[in-house]
Amino acid sequence: MSQTTTADAGTGKTNLDRFIPVAEPVLTGNELAYVTDCVTSSWVSSIGKYIPRFEEEFARFCGVRYGVATSNGTTALHLALAILGIGPGDEVIVPTLTFIATANVVRYTGATPVFADSEPRTWNIDPADVARKITRRTKAIIPVHLYGHPAEMDAINALAREHNLVVIEDAAEAHGAAYQGRRVGALARLAAFSFYGNKIITTGEGGMLTTDDDALAEQARWLRDHGMSPTRRYWHPVIGYNYRLTNLQAALGVAQMERIEEFIARKRAIATLYSDLLRGTPGITLPPEAPWAKNVYWMFSILVDDAFGLGRDPLMAHLKSRGIDSRPFFHPIHTMPPYATGTSLPVAERLSRQGINLPSSVALTDDDVRRVVRAIQEAAQ
Ligand SMILES: *Cc1c(COP(=O)(O)O)cnc(C)c1O
Repeated sequence: MSQTTTADAGTGKTNLDRFIPVAEPVLTGNELAYVTDCVTSSWVSSIGKYIPRFEEEFARFCGVRYGVATSNGTTALHLALAILGIGPGDEVIVPTLTFIATANVVRYTGATPVFADSEPRTWNIDPADVARKITRRTKAIIPVHLYGHPAEMDAINALAREHNLVVIEDAAEAHGAAYQGRRVGALARLAAFSFYGNKIITTGEGGMLTTDDDALAEQARWLRDHGMSPTRRYWHPVIGYNYRLTNLQAALGVAQMERIEEFIARKRAIATLYSDLLRGTPGITLPPEAPWAKNVYWMFSILVDDAFGLGRDPLMAHLKSRGIDSRPFFHPIHTMPPYATGTSLPVAERLSRQGINLPSSVALTDDDVRRVVRAIQEAAQ
């Protein structure tokens, strides 16, 4: 994320000097009014009207009964594992190509993350490799909807049913994405979202657990607030956490929810423009959208192979020299020191080497997108 000016965003003016960040939040709706309301009313901590409002509106958006707001996406994921009682001796299958938090939360519980490879079409966790990784100790699967494209949930849920496993969606990057017409967040027992500053909507830091299960929702609320007994003040039958969201943050969330459909539509329009302009460029693979999927293109991402004539990292350096920010794909988690196993997951390793996230903010103008594409195409020459 970057705090660069967006003064020319929306004007259609081409300013060749404007630095184009990968992501920046858009906070130009009711954000300031609602945050001001928290300050003037002094409801700034984790009690206040915006918290249940944000939870209810986000749950409705996903098509589930309950939303439990948390301090960030990582704590939402950790809370999901905690309320399921996952711990030492258990295994949880996660994709290796994801943000580190998906694996770290498994370790926080004392359980062991087991890494599955990606499938080459959608870049998401490969159900066939998940099937190979299931053991007697497996308790859960955490599919990630990577960069905004939903994972193959039917195949994953079928494996879970067959082996009596719980599925938790890591939907941190995919608010509003859909699988066969159904929104993520409603495709498994539990789902976790992030509202970090570069996510599809933001509360600064923040997260949400979504579920249709009233017992799990109640457990999550309880553990989120130190696990204090509802009938005996300061009596804690279990070890809980402070994973609460503040009313200030929820106020931002309520304002962002007023524009979430607009943001997603803009993300998809940006993706269409990028795709139209980049299609047919040798050595560039466009991001997937399976026939059964609605991709929200959290990050518009491309793969760069040998046919492009310039490597992935030199292309990123060229973009930087033109004032355009970009990001490499995540490193496969099984290659990083805390998790290194020496095994190979070749599809994820290739995607990780070839992938770039291009500027994807909803504040991008069409001219910004054209400028990024021109810079890519001139790099190939
Ligand atoms: C952002 C992200 C998270 C963590 O969210 P935070 O709010 O930063 O804690 C987890 N999983 C994935 C896939 C993410 O992209």
